[in-house]
Amino acid sequence: MNETFRRYKPSKRLQKLFFTHSYAMLLGLLILTFMPYSSVNTAVRAASPSTAKPVIKLIATGGTIAGSSSGTEATKYSAGGLNVKKLVNSVPELAHVASITGDQVSNVGSQDMSEDIWRALAASVQAAMQNNAINGVVITHGTDTIEETAFFLDQLFPCGKPIVLTGSMRPSDATSADGPQNMIEAVKLASMPSSQNRGVLVSMNSKIHTARDIRKNHTENTDAFSSGNAGLLGEFINGKPRFNRLVRPENSRHCLSAQPLPDTLPKVGILYAYAGMDAQLVQFYAQQNYQGIVLAGFGNGNTNKQTLDALAKFAETNIVVRSSRGVNGYVSRNIEINDDDLSFVTAQDLSPQKARILLMLQLAKTTNKTLIQKAFYKTH
Ligand code: GLU
Repeated sequence: MNETFRRYKPSKRLQKLFFTHSYAMLLGLLILTFMPYSSVNTAVRAASPSTAKPVIKLIATGGTIAGSSSGTEATKYSAGGLNVKKLVNSVPELAHVASITGDQVSNVGSQDMSEDIWRALAASVQAAMQNNAINGVVITHGTDTIEETAFFLDQLFPCGKPIVLTGSMRPSDATSADGPQNMIEAVKLASMPSSQNRGVLVSMNSKIHTARDIRKNHTENTDAFSSGNAGLLGEFINGKPRFNRLVRPENSRHCLSAQPLPDTLPKVGILYAYAGMDAQLVQFYAQQNYQGIVLAGFGNGNTNKQTLDALAKFAETNIVVRSSRGVNGYVSRNIEINDDDLSFVTAQDLSPQKARILLMLQLAKTTNKTLIQKAFYKTH
């Protein structure tokens, strides 16, 4: 009996083992209880937005976005006018999105955009790319040639920090001016890390276009731009940019650094085809020492027999690029015209005005027609 009810007294060794295990279990329980919270807290801290706003360099070039109407006639106005400070201050909401630092490289209607202004613009963009304190670049621009400037810059800055162009179809003091909204969206787009490495972008009317694809196809409507064959790169949905496509593969090809701007750009002109076209027009470019002609041809980059003969002669010592005056589609090689025999290059999906820019930049590097043709292929 005594044996049975005798109070169990564990040995010293067992006691030590028991207490050690209890402490270990208690510690384990504590760790298991608090571990999930501690990791969630870390994740929240890591993901919580920084209070510092992105810094955007806003480079103003002029255009309707900086224009004001003349007198009481709402349809008449002058492009350019507001300087960058007034432009930014006229949209107080911008301050909620980013810290803006301004630069004014010109104040012109974009019909007066020139190689000199492009050089100043490229230098200002380059300075922003090299400044670690700047997260992205927004360029305000007239809408008439915005696609040309975007494409030009895209050739020089194919990757890295976001570069976004925007403008407006209505002057700054018009009823329902579209400039303020376009500026806010452009600044949001340029502030997003996911806008990086997509090449130069254009944001207009809540639509996001690549520099290669954008084209102006309305003279007055606020919805004046499309992206042709390719479709929009993205759109603003509920005030946030959303991309429809991934990073363009062509960017990964040459994403090492900004491309240098050549000291001089060779002269390249555009020839617009029409029924009954006068082949003598080709002579003008030959006599003025143009190194290239871009044909804005019918359909698949065609024109009449006399002009084709004159262009083939010009191509013996210079470059001829066949593009289309049509808006969509590709100008492909050797379909109705034997490009191999006539020594022509085809523009693929590039409009005449963008084909001209690409040819100027290519001619500054090479006159090899195979290499020049290669540069025209779309890789995305
Ligand atoms: N010609 C003007 C320009 O391109 C009008 C187009 C605009 O900005 O909307 O600057």
